[in-house]
Amino acid sequence: MAEKSKIEWTDATWNPVRGCTKISPGCKHCYAEVFAERFRGVPGHPYERGFDLRLVPEKLEEPLRWKTPRLVFVNSMSDLFHSGVPDDYIVSIAEVMKAANWHTFQVLTKRSERMRDLLNSKLQFAAHSAHIWWGVSVENRKYGLPRIEHLRRANVAVRFLSIEPLLENLGPFDLSGIHWVIVGGESGHGARPLQKEWVLSIRNQCWQARVPFFFKQWGGVHKSRNGRKLGGRTYDQMPVTSSIAPQFGT
Ligand code: SF4
Repeated sequence: MAEKSKIEWTDATWNPVRGCTKISPGCKHCYAEVFAERFRGVPGHPYERGFDLRLVPEKLEEPLRWKTPRLVFVNSMSDLFHSGVPDDYIVSIAEVMKAANWHTFQVLTKRSERMRDLLNSKLQFAAHSAHIWWGVSVENRKYGLPRIEHLRRANVAVRFLSIEPLLENLGPFDLSGIHWVIVGGESGHGARPLQKEWVLSIRNQCWQARVPFFFKQWGGVHKSRNGRKLGGRTYDQMPVTSSIAPQFGT
């Protein structure tokens, strides 16, 4: 069984793929790479091969054995739509998600064009399940905003944005068809700073569009000192998936 996740917006992680390669500025301080590379060369360790991409078929059916419903972050240590993951393997993962419908699955990618194309073809059988949420990472205007458009073009039930690490002011952008927005700053050594105005701009746009807003953290080198309050309160809204229409969860 996967350990309980420390990620603020999920309960558990499931990694039927391990490892990845960098694709855009949001990857610069990838926590998964830092973690995996610590164990490179350790015989028998799950990350014996560091952050090299590999499939882990023995993990495929893990969620079917978890009897208690969970929010499951899929591939916290990889990117499901990496070009090194075959279509058939992605279909197998989606089949498990579709079958394990007592859980809620969160799939997050930076390879948004491939996700869109597969969701509109081989993954259609899973695209309309309200317990599977499909999301893209957004770190800046150049790389992040086009991913939102790719996501909107995917014919799915639930779409979300992980705007983390937010690296600049995104300015006004289109939230139509989006059901949940997470925002956070970078944490750890060399963390790039997050400015309050950038977060407020997104929060205000979410209010106007009636999209649930979750503020994860300010981040920074010592993230626990900076906390996760914005304007004196926390934001923990979640999507309400009993309806396709955007609603406030809290
Ligand atoms: S896509 Fe995600 S997992 Fe892959 S290198 Fe970038 S941040 Fe890390």
